[in-house]
Amino acid sequence: MTLVASPPTTVPVGGPSLPQERRLVTSIPGPKSQALQARKTAAVSAGVGVTLPVYIVAGGGGVLVDIDGNSLIDLGSGIAVTGVGNSAPRVVEAVAAQLAQFTHTCFTVAPYDSYIEVAETLNRITPGEHAKRTALFNSGAEAVENAVKIARHYTGRQAVVAFDHAYHGRTTLTMSLTAKNQPYKNGFGPFAAEVYRAPMSYPLRDGGLDGVVAAKRTISQIEKQIGAENLAALIIEPIQGEGGFIVPAAGFLATLLAWCRANGVVFIADEVQTGFARTGAMFACDHEDIVPDLIVMAKGIAGGLPLSAVTGRAEIMDAPQAGGIGGTYGGNPLACAAALATLDTYESENLVQRAREIGTILTGRLNAIRAFDKRVGDVRGRGAMIAIELVDSATGEPDAALTSRVAAAAHAQGVIVLTCGTYGNVIRFLPPLSISDDLLVEGLQVVAHALANA
Ligand SMILES: *Cc1c(COP(=O)(O)O)cnc(C)c1O
Repeated sequence: MTLVASPPTTVPVGGPSLPQERRLVTSIPGPKSQALQARKTAAVSAGVGVTLPVYIVAGGGGVLVDIDGNSLIDLGSGIAVTGVGNSAPRVVEAVAAQLAQFTHTCFTVAPYDSYIEVAETLNRITPGEHAKRTALFNSGAEAVENAVKIARHYTGRQAVVAFDHAYHGRTTLTMSLTAKNQPYKNGFGPFAAEVYRAPMSYPLRDGGLDGVVAAKRTISQIEKQIGAENLAALIIEPIQGEGGFIVPAAGFLATLLAWCRANGVVFIADEVQTGFARTGAMFACDHEDIVPDLIVMAKGIAGGLPLSAVTGRAEIMDAPQAGGIGGTYGGNPLACAAALATLDTYESENLVQRAREIGTILTGRLNAIRAFDKRVGDVRGRGAMIAIELVDSATGEPDAALTSRVAAAAHAQGVIVLTCGTYGNVIRFLPPLSISDDLLVEGLQVVAHALANA
């Protein structure tokens, strides 16, 4: 009798041990994913949309593996979350150890030290040398809400300014701060009171307006329409995320910050998407030496576990009464353990430098395409947060249909890319910082091919 070796297990193990390759064994989505998508439609709210209905069973390095056995190149990191990679070994180890100890006490009932250590770490690595305090929450939106609450309490004022193209979340206050109607606001009113919108610096679409001039225009509008004495806070993403990876012209942020300081307005940087090495600095504010009063963080903070934070000036953060800030799960011990391992990985593996290298590859390749393809209207961003804005080559008008076609073609070829932008015409690249150069270049070649054929 001949012994036949059993076939290798078909259950892949996640983390960096996963084969780093693009491998398609079915059409995308494959039959098992399609079956799950039918169950999803029957069981999950239609309001919860899905970009690419491939159902994932493992992830790590620069790939995601789906239930049909396809291995896809991940250029989205679950929207800038898995900066250290999926199932990064140190994160897995830290969470597993915590899991065996205790899973929850509620920090505001019976505390534990990892929450404090996360706070100390964030106080140290965020911009500015002043005395700081931190509070932990679960999601980006929840942290944004709390930053606004804290700023209102501290100033005794109510008005908040947010910007054109801004994205701050989906809760009632944060969708009110968000600029875009579809899909984020449509049908969900009434919106929160005392939220005002101001013009952004958007070099491609404001005629390349100088950053200081653009800020003065914004300040003038705020003074005329709201009055500094009524304004609690100004909240801004130093590079806008969902709005289209818009990098404001140099001087825009600094001029707004100086005006806030002079007028007792709390300057809140929403670094939920830009934070933690993503832009080739620990925080996007660092590129222009912006020291915000409050900084909001989430996505990249804990290797995929739900955690968010507000860090800021001690006197502002200490303004609310005890019990005014918090929540049942905020700073959950598993999430804190993950954050400590994640934050240490950013520093010890110098992922800031890795983000810059990724940025050099991205911008080099994308600018090379732009040089001969006039449909690429702009290549922008910093570090491993880079986008192309696709336009009609004759008119320069946004081309959302082309953008959808390119993204869909890339998906079909096993590359996960995300779109964004007020006009739906931006393809954004947010690879995990654990991706290899080879995989990144292959992913870009697939996108370039998709664009050439679109
Ligand atoms: C994603 C995002 C949010 C909201 O974070 P959630 O965790 O989805 O609530 C807020 N601000 C910015 C800039 C974001 O990119």
